[in-house]
Amino acid sequence: MLDVLKFKNPRKESSEGKGRIAIDEVSITFGSGADKHVAVETTSIGIEAGEFVCILGPSGCGKSTLLNAIAGYVKPTTGKVDVDDVTVEKPGPDRGMVFQQYSLLPWKTVYENVAFGPKMAGFSRANSGSTANTFLELVGLKKFGSRYPAELSGGMQQRVGIARALANYPSVLLMDEPFGALDAQTRLMMQESLLDIWRKFGTTVVFVTHDVDEAVFLADRVLIMSAAPGRIIEDVKINLPRPRSTDMASDPEYVRARQFCLDTIKAESRRAFEGQNT
Ligand code: ADP
Ligand code: MG
Repeated sequence: MLDVLKFKNPRKESSEGKGRIAIDEVSITFGSGADKHVAVETTSIGIEAGEFVCILGPSGCGKSTLLNAIAGYVKPTTGKVDVDDVTVEKPGPDRGMVFQQYSLLPWKTVYENVAFGPKMAGFSRANSGSTANTFLELVGLKKFGSRYPAELSGGMQQRVGIARALANYPSVLLMDEPFGALDAQTRLMMQESLLDIWRKFGTTVVFVTHDVDEAVFLADRVLIMSAAPGRIIEDVKINLPRPRSTDMASDPEYVRARQFCLDTIKAESRRAFEGQNT
């Protein structure tokens, strides 16, 4: 039975219904003059609190840039991103980030890595410690708290990365190709594990990937981005029941959604390719 109280935010804010994202007429341009590059073309999209959304698109289309705008690492050139009606100006503890590279502090133990955020946020030592243990347990790594990151497999390190992000009690979890460096088998296990963690913790997730199967398996909605300059060209609802398991690959809804995504990407690549040749 799920112990919801375990995840009660010690900052004492209610996280109920939090994590709503509004991307409003956002465009992002890098450089100027001859070096000017439009990474994200004017895009508007809404994401509900607690939704699991995947952003799917080819390499270089602007996925990370759009995610970084939600995180507050990149400022939109036009438009704005609101999270729970507050315009994003900089990174904040309400938005946790998990990158492809595990980016753990190598000189700190697993436990210290997870306790670090709460400690920085001013939690007491006892509170940081119990928070770290709660989230290490959530990702199934409580036993490994005293290990150093280098002593863990890639999949385990990435689970520590997820625990570390969640330990700040974010209302939004932003994930940039988090399983891209893992082997296929580990990746499947991590996808199931992430859905389990999400079901228990209930945060909004925005997950970037270029892998169609990964997107369809995980998401409530798949937002497909065009080739550069990136904009969202499809918003695909995935009507698969939850909890999901990897044997759903033969479910007709899975097959339909997957084929639709593949066809969209193929048509888009053709359009981009022909555009380059005219
Ligand atoms: P994706 O994550 O979809 O692979 P990115 O968002 O990383 O794509 O990049 C989109 C485009 O914007 C790429 O052409 C990339 O080179 C460019 N870009 C990303 N960040 C910067 C930056 N800080 N300065 C200049 N160009 C950038
Ligand atoms: Mg990227």
